[in-house]
Amino acid sequence: MHELPSLPYKYSDLEPHFDEETMRLHHTKHHQTYIDKLNAALQAYPDLAAKDIFSLMKDLNGVPEDIRTAVRNHGGGHLNHLLWWEWLSPTPGAPGEQTIGALDQAFGSVEEFKKQFTAAALARFGSGWTWLVKTDGGLKIESTANQDTPISEGKMVIFGVDVWEHAYYLKYQNRRADYLAALWNVVNWQKLEQSLGASVAK
Ligand code: MN
Repeated sequence: MHELPSLPYKYSDLEPHFDEETMRLHHTKHHQTYIDKLNAALQAYPDLAAKDIFSLMKDLNGVPEDIRTAVRNHGGGHLNHLLWWEWLSPTPGAPGEQTIGALDQAFGSVEEFKKQFTAAALARFGSGWTWLVKTDGGLKIESTANQDTPISEGKMVIFGVDVWEHAYYLKYQNRRADYLAALWNVVNWQKLEQSLGASVAK
């Protein structure tokens, strides 16, 4: 059974950038619902239910057709949100050496990365996510619809942003641009540094 992880910070800790009520609802209702529906879908398949969420999402073709869409949507929702909470921090710090180097190489500068990432997140029509992924060709910005995750395409996700309205509507209403501007105040740069370090070590 998949379970809701507890957060390493309080719901109110990302104020005023991300508000307490959104954080609480997003975690206890939205994320929990993905987990509940994923567990329900996996009930008839104990072997699949025993897999960790990364392994499960990396091999969607290995999931029986009758539950594949449910696993894609709710398993994706679970995995994406697991990562999302880790990418946020009340003590964001600054980009680390490895992060600066990698972003400079791929985008020219950290500021240029932020600009392109924000533009991609604004351009994501409807609900979905925008990602910083590591591929054989280096770091790239990508976008997916719904709860699809680049991990299902064998890519390594370094960072991402949830642009479903449930992630920002209470505080920012329709102003996705304001939500994306606020994001940079709560990015857990240390986590990105660790992920880039791990990807280099591989
Ligand atoms: Mn969400």
